[in-house]
Amino acid sequence: MRVVLDTEFGSGARFVAARAQGGRLHYIAIAAALPPAAAVGDAQLRAAWPLNVPGFHRVILNDEVTLDLLVGAVDAVLPQIAARVNAFYLSPEVAPAWARTLAKLAVQGATLHVRAADEALVWALTAAGFVCRIADDAHASANDNAHADAGVSTGAGLRDEAGRRCAAAPDIAAVYLSRKPQPVAQAAPVRRAVVIGAGLAGSSAAQRLCARGWQVTLIERHAQPAQEASGNLAGIFMPLLSKDDNLPTRLSRAAYLFALREWRRMGGVGTAFLGADCGVLQLARDDRHAKVQQHALAQWNYPPQYARWADAQEASALIGAPTPHGGWLFAQGGWARPSSLCEAMLAACGERLQRVFHTEALDLLRVDDDWQVRGADGALIAQAPTVILASGAGAGQIAQAAELPLAKLRGQVTHLPADAAAAPPLLPLVVCREAYVTPPSDGIVCAGATYDNDDDPALRASSQQENLARLAEIIPGDAVAALAHTAPLAGRVGFRVAAPDRLPLAGALPDYPNAGRLEFLSDVPRHPGLHCLLGYASRGLIWAPLMAELLVSQLENTPLPLEAALVEALDPGRFLLKQRRRAQ
Ligand SMILES: Cc1cc2nc3c(=O)[nH]c(=O)nc-3n(C[C@H](O)[C@H](O)[C@H](O)COP(=O)(O)OP(=O)(O)OC[C@H]3O[C@@H](n4cnc5c(N)ncnc54)[C@H](O)[C@@H]3O)c2cc1C
Repeated sequence: MRVVLDTEFGSGARFVAARAQGGRLHYIAIAAALPPAAAVGDAQLRAAWPLNVPGFHRVILNDEVTLDLLVGAVDAVLPQIAARVNAFYLSPEVAPAWARTLAKLAVQGATLHVRAADEALVWALTAAGFVCRIADDAHASANDNAHADAGVSTGAGLRDEAGRRCAAAPDIAAVYLSRKPQPVAQAAPVRRAVVIGAGLAGSSAAQRLCARGWQVTLIERHAQPAQEASGNLAGIFMPLLSKDDNLPTRLSRAAYLFALREWRRMGGVGTAFLGADCGVLQLARDDRHAKVQQHALAQWNYPPQYARWADAQEASALIGAPTPHGGWLFAQGGWARPSSLCEAMLAACGERLQRVFHTEALDLLRVDDDWQVRGADGALIAQAPTVILASGAGAGQIAQAAELPLAKLRGQVTHLPADAAAAPPLLPLVVCREAYVTPPSDGIVCAGATYDNDDDPALRASSQQENLARLAEIIPGDAVAALAHTAPLAGRVGFRVAAPDRLPLAGALPDYPNAGRLEFLSDVPRHPGLHCLLGYASRGLIWAPLMAELLVSQLENTPLPLEAALVEALDPGRFLLKQRRRAQ
């Protein structure tokens, strides 16, 4: 696979040329801001074009071509990239201080083109291991082959091939030929994995692995996928916003937008699986909260398709009842039925997926280079070099995951028949405040959900009353208030799995018993080949696609879809590191 890093993406002409060469291509483009989709020449790219919001946007165009659009200032973005790059195309503002970062990203023999480089940059690149010379072609194209240039290098200093000193800042072609020992190239992984758990986390992992050519055995203790946390009739999808654009906000933005792109690629919400991108209105709780919501929007100046303010008048019109404060409107948000999404993802796996359902995995044993997965009676269920624990609330049953600090949070959703005499509000979009209410689907309106600290699996009247009381706060009026007396006890209980920081765990599982003194995440010992996708808490719909993509990128040693700081925030080793740092 060829990895290209380009800080002058423009309208994408060089990307289109690189793609036309064929083969697997991973193209990373950095831009301070994205032009509107209409300005993008290529039709397929235009259709997948992200909204202009900060952060990393992974656009998977097909199994061969991936484009990462990294929105932000180059100097802030470069150190956040985790990739091994074969070719760089750099803009004139590239600073000498970045040379070392570029060298860290470069594979031995990587080519680099920079326009109008000054002498300081050439020296810095040379010191970092790049052999530089003045480019023959001021408009280096993706076809350039700087390996050939390496033989005529003039080293540092702005001289042309004849040794003449150059007056103006010329274009530079370079090749990375470091004399320092290089990291050993990672061998291609053996593309066989066992995934434990067929909820949102496991189904997404299976889908991304199979798309990358892996053979996957999916073990699930129920006869069907999505029978536990992912078994709700409707889940809501929307991003988080905050005034300081904190870590959960940035992560949820990347995950939400990636999920929307991936669902579009599958055929669309409501087409490929049950649901609707009907919009989500998140009402303010009171005047003060309305001001906080408005400030957050003003601070980040989001495109209106991402998030905008709906004032009280508009919000009242949307929900068909007077509401005093207005709220955030996420026009592309909505609801989806997780089981339907899981089925669609598993169907996309095709022949590469083997389902082993109605089977509980309880024991993992590393034998040679494989993990053996065994059941209650000790019988071997499956084996592979890679195992991914996506078993939600069941993760603690596996010894290697037992020390992860994951909590189970009970949640009860109330199901309200849309055609009952005392009918619930029939809304055109999802509305939420402390709770949510969905538009009707298959004759049911979902309202919920509670957060309880017990593990009672049975429906409770008290939880239903709590849901209905919150619903009455969202949609005022006698009709909704009457539901507290008329609605039959109906709904579903599930258990969210949450880490103390409420962020998912995506990556290699830490080896708790073998951990000594730890300073950094890189010191945390890991079980070889054992990974997890856990702790999706209340946002499994949006976490699942991006977390699976992150893990599969790690397994394949391909560029990561998120900033390094965000990848660290998701590392399953973070709790062990914190624990040891406190104790040291
Ligand atoms: C009441 C409630 C409301 C929610 N609302 C929303 C919402 O609006 N929006 C949203 O995005 N998210 C919502 N969530 C959260 C979302 O449902 C979860 O984040 C998501 O379903 C988690 O998916 P998962 O695959 O990690 O876990 P699960 O769906 O629980 O999947 C784990 C799977 O592993 C299997 N398993 C476990 N142990 C074993 C074993 N040893 N061997 C074999 N199989 C095993 C289980 O049977 C299960 O199928 C809600 C959750 C609840 C409970």
